[in-house]
Amino acid sequence: MSSMISSGLSALGSVYLWSNPIAKVKGFISSLFKPVSKSEDFDEEFNRRVIKIFDKFLKENNLDANLKICQMWTGHIMGTKTTFNENKIIVLSNLLDTDEEAFKFLFKHEISHVKGNDSIKAALLNPIFSISSVFFLRHYCGLSFIPAVISYRILKYVFEKRVAIFVATFFERKADNFAINNSTIDELKGGLRMVYAEKELLTIPTFHPTPSSRKKALEAALEKVGIRYVPSSEEFEGLIKLLKKNQENSIASKLQEMEEKK
Ligand SMILES: [Zn+2]
Repeated sequence: MSSMISSGLSALGSVYLWSNPIAKVKGFISSLFKPVSKSEDFDEEFNRRVIKIFDKFLKENNLDANLKICQMWTGHIMGTKTTFNENKIIVLSNLLDTDEEAFKFLFKHEISHVKGNDSIKAALLNPIFSISSVFFLRHYCGLSFIPAVISYRILKYVFEKRVAIFVATFFERKADNFAINNSTIDELKGGLRMVYAEKELLTIPTFHPTPSSRKKALEAALEKVGIRYVPSSEEFEGLIKLLKKNQENSIASKLQEMEEKK
């Protein structure tokens, strides 16, 4: 009787452990083919305008095909999504017209994400973690249901709070370094104006380097060519307005989402 119970618990533990990787692999595969955003968000003219500015740079980095650029109020300043069908960079509405050099600096950060397929790599982490955790737990904890559930939960917590954050932060630092190494002096100054503007706002925690560490890195890059640049407040007040509007819009859309869910 007791052997029946223990084999039943083992079977249950096994089903529990394998259900996670199956769901994660399914999610990962569908994310590779899912369109990034609705087609009505796409503005052909804006896309052409940005591609024209970066024409040479995109060609040098072998990224001239399949890149789509969208303008949106998303709460983030910019974002990248890479799928098998397309590479998309989503940029803050009106940023290009507010400060073109800041736009160029931030856009180069996103180009690094596209070039490195960072969003695919980050999404791949979940299925890799889930599959390897099954083998690890089967080996070290056995498959009985309760120990399987408890140990998987602990591993998942460590993965989400430590490993996934470490990897995301690594991609962001890499993208910042790419932007700094590939920007002109004016673009670096634009990047600094954005940092000054960001410092005026409530910071939403992200995986990006903090505005202070970004400021240090940009200042160091400018100092290398003998330039010390402190923007005047008039130079970045347009950016502050834009960032504030972005924050308001994203809070409003989150509230609307919550309202719709009720
Ligand atoms: Zn980034």
